[in-house]
Amino acid sequence: MRADDTDTKSMNSLRAARSYADQGSGPGDTGIAQYLSCFERIIMPVWVFDIDLGRVHWANEAALKIWRTGSLAELRERDMSGEMSPTVAQRLKQYQEDFKDNSSFTELWTLYPNGEPATMRCIFSGIELDDGRMAMFCQALEEHAETPETLRSAQALMHTTVMISLYTPQGAQVYHNPAARAVKCTDCHLLSDQFVQRADFDALHRMLKLDGLASIVAQVKTAQGIRWHEINARESRDAVTGSPAILISEVDISDLKETEQTANFLALHDVLTGLPNRTYLQRIIAQKFAAAEALDRKLGLLFIDLDHFKRINDSLGHAVGDKLLIEVAQRLKQSSRPNDIIVRLGGDEFVVLLDDGSERSLITNMADRIQDVLCDPIMINNHELRISPSIGISVFPDDGNNLDVLMQNADLAMYEAKDGGRNRHCFFASHMKERAETRMAMESSLRHAVDNGEFELFYQPQVSFAENKVVGAEALLRWQHPTRGLLGPGEFIGLAEESGLIEPIGEWVILEAARQQSEWQADGNDITVSVNLSPRQFRSPALIPTIEKVALAEGFDPSRLDLEITESMLMGDNNEIVRELQEIHDMGFNLAIDDFGTGYSNLSYLQRYPISCLKIDRSFVMDLRKTSAITELIISMCKILDVSIVAEGVENLHQLEWLKSKGCHKYQGYFFSKPVSAPDFLPFFDKTDGQKSGNVYEFQPRATIAGS
Ligand code: C2E
Ligand code: CA
Ligand code: CA
Repeated sequence: MRADDTDTKSMNSLRAARSYADQGSGPGDTGIAQYLSCFERIIMPVWVFDIDLGRVHWANEAALKIWRTGSLAELRERDMSGEMSPTVAQRLKQYQEDFKDNSSFTELWTLYPNGEPATMRCIFSGIELDDGRMAMFCQALEEHAETPETLRSAQALMHTTVMISLYTPQGAQVYHNPAARAVKCTDCHLLSDQFVQRADFDALHRMLKLDGLASIVAQVKTAQGIRWHEINARESRDAVTGSPAILISEVDISDLKETEQTANFLALHDVLTGLPNRTYLQRIIAQKFAAAEALDRKLGLLFIDLDHFKRINDSLGHAVGDKLLIEVAQRLKQSSRPNDIIVRLGGDEFVVLLDDGSERSLITNMADRIQDVLCDPIMINNHELRISPSIGISVFPDDGNNLDVLMQNADLAMYEAKDGGRNRHCFFASHMKERAETRMAMESSLRHAVDNGEFELFYQPQVSFAENKVVGAEALLRWQHPTRGLLGPGEFIGLAEESGLIEPIGEWVILEAARQQSEWQADGNDITVSVNLSPRQFRSPALIPTIEKVALAEGFDPSRLDLEITESMLMGDNNEIVRELQEIHDMGFNLAIDDFGTGYSNLSYLQRYPISCLKIDRSFVMDLRKTSAITELIISMCKILDVSIVAEGVENLHQLEWLKSKGCHKYQGYFFSKPVSAPDFLPFFDKTDGQKSGNVYEFQPRATIAGS
């Protein structure tokens, strides 16, 4: 016996049975039998089903016919509980409960008298047996194939897009509705054949056995290729033969699944490079750890940061930066092995997780390989770009047994690699933590240094060859640290750049240098003061307003303040840079290129930008034996372009004379003086006064407490 799909629940109108039962024994009756005898001769099939025993308790003549038997005794012998599916059994149990509330149900049922199917509309209500148990009082209206209900069912089955199929319990095909037939793959003979993953079928099979019902989303083979189907299955019977069967209904949810997959992909991947992202790494890492632990193996985590990527992004634009990152991702993929995981964390940071129980030597090889492939020049929009990585490495479980700690430690090691000169890799070691802590403490005291007045400018004299006197001073920053004493810029400028503190510090430098210049100027000492601009400061929108303030200060002559920038800030054709430089120039300030010769040494910058001074780097002056030809060339070019030349780092007489003989305009260096404090600078003015016709060589190198 099984329920069909037209299931209505209503309050019972036929209360007779129930009320009879409620009354218990009437005068002269013999319990339920007496009551049921009223139904003996009516033509409607009526029977009582004992839910607990799974047997017919009683049936009238008409009902015996339906059950294909001539004798009530024979019918009562039939145990139907065995052939009942768990779902039907469960449903009957529920009815038993509901009957207590006088509920009745009208449904289309298919009975299987002697195994043959017979479909009819039944009305079920409760009836209490003599022993007090609730049984089911059934009245049947026989349904014929031609009834509108049946016709409609058939029609629906023909036209629905839901794929409906019937299989034998062994999985052989019995029936497909048109929707199912249209997608059926020709090579699939058994139900199991249509599943792409055998495991999906096994799961379905298990659920069916357990509950008589199963629901699963799986990939299936169809005439249109592999699709995602939501599959519902239930144990049932073949309505024609009455044999046990599996009824399957399927809906194609491929589109939904695709959307879901795209969403999943986006959540776990980086859109630009297509590499997995941090979330992905977090998801899979536990599994990687577990696998490594089980095999007693190590995992290497490489934290990769591209050196000076920001420069490329700032000078050539983000479109070029993006292309570069895509190429880097590609190269990382090519240099890794199938099980390694490559992740883009964001910006120019990548992580590679080495997955094969990596020993240190193996990790080192891998890091070398990555360095090699990333250092090959990359051509983008006719620019030949050269990049290099700094790689920090942490090892599971030695350096941490969770992702956060491993990442932190690899990050620290990466900073160590940067400090060590970039384009290298570095394994994490515990002392790096201490360094990081010192750094943090340093950053926090740097934060307060401006307000606490801990900065001071030292000045290094610039001497004119022609005039034999001090004509300028380069302002060089010093930090009077509360516990560490006087610190040179090498110890904190990098940190100030990274933390952004260079902006307020740089602003202070400009204002203080200008103040000092005007103080000297007021005392009749007419010299130029030059200040150094850092790349971040140069890019900051706060720069122009700051120097505007200086330009507008009463009595200040902007031509007495030079701003030193480096070549790296000029790379590329950035209109923004041209505009900014022009603006500075138009306000009356002079611009100088600092450290010329250490970077790209591109003299065309001198034509393209409003540059009035070029400072030849100390490394050139130091090694004149090797660099004299190029230095001479630079000097003559500058003369043609009417750009003044300052030689830096002049430490001896030989250098001095050589530079003078080639027509270099000015020099600065320890030979004349180290950078000194403003009060210590005053004697230079006195001496220059006395040097009008004198010889510059009379300036003796001064020993000062300052600088280097
Ligand atoms: P720089 O602009 O190239 O400054 C010249 C550096 O060379 C100074 O080092 C100076 O003391 C040193 N020097 C000068 N003559 C000689 C010499 O004959 N021999 C040798 N060996 N060294 C010499 P310092 O003061 O330590 O400054 C280092 C760098 O820090 C500067 O290099 C500059 O890039 C940066 N810096 C200094 N002050 C500032 C500042 O206010 N803002 C910014 N952004 N950077 C600054
Ligand atoms: Ca400088
Ligand atoms: Ca310099």
